[in-house]
Amino acid sequence: ACWSVCPRRHIGSSPSRLHGCMSAWVIDQYGTNGVLKYTEEVPVPTVSSPSEVMIKVHAASLNPLDTSMRGGYGAKLLKLRRDPMSVMDSDSEFPLILGRDVSGVVVDCGSEVTHVVPGDEVWAAVPPWKQGSLAEFVTLTEYEVSHKPKSLSHTEAASIPYVANTALSALVNAGGLCRDSSSNKRVLITGGSGGVGTFSIQLLKAWGAHVTVTCSQNAEGLVRGLGADEVVDYTAGDSLEQLEMMERFDVILDNVGGETEQWAMGLLKPWSGAKYVTLVTPLLLNTDSLGLLDGMFQAGFSLQCKAIQNIMSTGVFYRWGFYAPDGPALDEVSKLVDAGKILPVVEAQFPFTQVPQAFQKLENGHARGKTVVRVA
Ligand code: NDP
Repeated sequence: ACWSVCPRRHIGSSPSRLHGCMSAWVIDQYGTNGVLKYTEEVPVPTVSSPSEVMIKVHAASLNPLDTSMRGGYGAKLLKLRRDPMSVMDSDSEFPLILGRDVSGVVVDCGSEVTHVVPGDEVWAAVPPWKQGSLAEFVTLTEYEVSHKPKSLSHTEAASIPYVANTALSALVNAGGLCRDSSSNKRVLITGGSGGVGTFSIQLLKAWGAHVTVTCSQNAEGLVRGLGADEVVDYTAGDSLEQLEMMERFDVILDNVGGETEQWAMGLLKPWSGAKYVTLVTPLLLNTDSLGLLDGMFQAGFSLQCKAIQNIMSTGVFYRWGFYAPDGPALDEVSKLVDAGKILPVVEAQFPFTQVPQAFQKLENGHARGKTVVRVA
C-alpha cells in the first residue's frame, strides 16, 4: 500500500510512537542518489494482519538491488506484486522505502504469530515488493522472520539475510544442492568477493563441497580466508585457461552474468546432472522495457531456449536463481553462524544519517562483502 504524509505526528514515548510516525529514507521518484530523502513523517507500519510481526530496526544493509530499484529497476513487476489491482490504475508506488536486510527487535505481533514474541531479537530479508528497512520500523509476515544469531551484533547480522536467502534459493532450489548431498560436489562461484559470493563460499564449505572462486587478485586473501579451495583471478589474462585445466564442476553459481555464461557452460560435467545457475537474469529489465506480458514472455522464451539448447547438446541444466523469502532457511543459517561456520563479512558501516553515502559506496562497485547501515 502507498503511504502518504503522516497525519499524526506524535514522536515521543514508545507506545504512542507505535501508532505515530517514524523516520525513514524514502524516494518519491526514481533517479540517482539525489532522490533519497530523509523524513520523520512516515506512518509507522503497524501490524494489520494476524500473521504479521513488527520489528524495530537496529541495522539494515544494502544490496545491488537497492541502487537498481532507486533508479526504477523492476518497477512494473514489483508494483504488480505489491498490489495486483494497480495494473488497472495509475496509483503511485511512492513513497518507497529501500533496504532489504533487517536485524532488530520484535515490538508487536499479530494474534496468530507463534514463532516470535515482543522483545525477541530477529533478522530477516525484506522482499523487494514490501517497504524496506531503511526506517525505524518494518513489518513482515512471521514466515519471513527468524531469530537472529546470538553471537552477532545487529550490525553484523544485518549483513546476511538477503544474500543468504538468495544463495540458498539458488543453490538448493535451482542448483539441487543441500547439506547432505554436497560433500562430493565441485562448485564454481563467479564473483566470489561480493555479498552473495562471500556467503555462498562459507555455506558450501560448511556443507563439505569443494569450492572454486573467481575474483579480482586483491580479493584472493578474503575468499581463501572464508574457505575457498581454489581461486582464479579473473583479471589475469589466462583465467579461462586456468579454469579449463581444472576438473569439471557439478554446479556453477554465477554472480557476474553477461559473457560469463557463454564460457561457463563448458566447465560443467557433461551428461551428469550438472547445473549452471545465474543470478543475473533479464526478467525485470524485460518487464521494465517491454511491459508486463511481453516482458515475461520474452524472458520465459529466452530461458527455455537456453535450457533446451544446453540439455540437448551437453546434458547440463541452465537455470535462473532468485531471492526467495524464507525465515526457516534463516533459522538454519543462524545455527551455522552460532557454530562459527559462517562469519559476517562487513566491509563498510554507515550511520543512519549517511544513507546516500552508503548508496554511493555500493555504486562504486568492487564490493568485498557487505555495506551496513546502523539505524538505531
Ligand atoms: P556485489 O556487488 O556484492 O558483488 C559483486 C562482486 O563481483 C564484487 O566483489 C566484484 O568485485 C566482483 N566482480 C565483478 N566483476 C567480476 C568478474 N567479471 N568476475 C568475477 N568477479 C567479479 O553483488 P552481490 O554479491 O550482492 O550480487 C551478485 C549479483 O547477483 C548482482 O548482479 C546482483 O544484482 C545479483 N542478485 C540477483 C538476485 C536475484 O534474485 N536474481 C538476488 C541477489 C543478487 P570486483 O569488481 O572488484 O572484481
